[in-house]
Amino acid sequence: MSAHRPAVRDDLQALEGYHSPQVSVAVRLNTNESPFGPPPEFVDAWVEELRAFPLHRYPDRAARALREELGHHLGQPPGRIFCANGSNEVLQTLLLTYGGPGRTALMFEPTYALHAHISRVTGTGVVAVDRRPDFSVEPAAVARHIAEHRPDVVFLCSPNNPTGIVESDETIGAALEAIGANARGLLVVDEAYGEFAPRSALGLVDGDRPLVVARTYSKVWSMAALRLGFCVAPEWLVAELENVVLPYHLSVPTQSAGRLALAYRDEMKRRVESLVGERERLVERMAVHPGLQIFPSGANFVLIRPPARPGEDPVDAGLRVWTGLLERGVLVRNFAAWPHTRGCLRITVGTRDEDDVFLAALEEVLGA
Ligand code: PMP
Repeated sequence: MSAHRPAVRDDLQALEGYHSPQVSVAVRLNTNESPFGPPPEFVDAWVEELRAFPLHRYPDRAARALREELGHHLGQPPGRIFCANGSNEVLQTLLLTYGGPGRTALMFEPTYALHAHISRVTGTGVVAVDRRPDFSVEPAAVARHIAEHRPDVVFLCSPNNPTGIVESDETIGAALEAIGANARGLLVVDEAYGEFAPRSALGLVDGDRPLVVARTYSKVWSMAALRLGFCVAPEWLVAELENVVLPYHLSVPTQSAGRLALAYRDEMKRRVESLVGERERLVERMAVHPGLQIFPSGANFVLIRPPARPGEDPVDAGLRVWTGLLERGVLVRNFAAWPHTRGCLRITVGTRDEDDVFLAALEEVLGA
């Protein structure tokens, strides 16, 4: 019998995976993680709890203790909280539940690439609409596209990755109103960077509105390695997600870490404040470079577009600066070749020392 390679689903054949190159360098400012590890006392408490756990037993399927304490922290009832392996699994579960064949998801590009990617993987049709050149999106345009396309899922990302823009209350309001007028669909506000921003849609979640706010432990809580994300949504919606997600998907170490981390909320709040201050310092220091475009950010990263030399394509200019930084031991995220972010690079806010290495490297590269 000859070996064969089974054919991938027809609708997945053109799909490319999600890639964020990991190069081994001294200063890694490319994946928007926290530059700080979790507090050592947290790690000790976590390991101790794990030692005592009967590992031959399944975890609590409903993650009750975690949802209880997280709900308390957020001022929300536990029934409005759904937890998963990173907010990516939250998004996937939402799309498995409310997207799928014959259904569509609406998004405003450029935005987080996984919104389109997970939509496609789940067989959900993607309706991608362009933002304006400054990466904002008008409330009226949001309402118009929702009325026209009648999507099943609408994604807004606030602060938006990779642009950093925080959506206005008007934009969120217009989306909810248009979804209400259609009597169809669900608004998902991806707030993976919400803690760094001046406003949030969390307060709008109630028992009725078709609104989900997704968050993560990967950034502020310094737990990217552990994979824990969650969303806040009406109880009836959380119940539907629980029906779809795999049983026992959230391991004991993950549930336990999510709960124990909450004891360090004051420390995390201080870290957020210091990273926001560091972001503003980065912006101020970069602003001295003539022709360097800096997009306003409410997140722990900043999108920039380096100036092109006379006759140079902006995409080539972005790549040249990205390469120059890499040669100096600094890895940032290269968005130069993306159609919506031509020539742009995204810098994750690091420690003060890491940012100083980046700033010195940038000065050299731009001056060269
Ligand atoms: N949403 C956005 C906007 C993100 O940038 C990320 C991380 N890159 C995620 C969701 C996923 O985060 P995680 O799965 O680590 O919670």
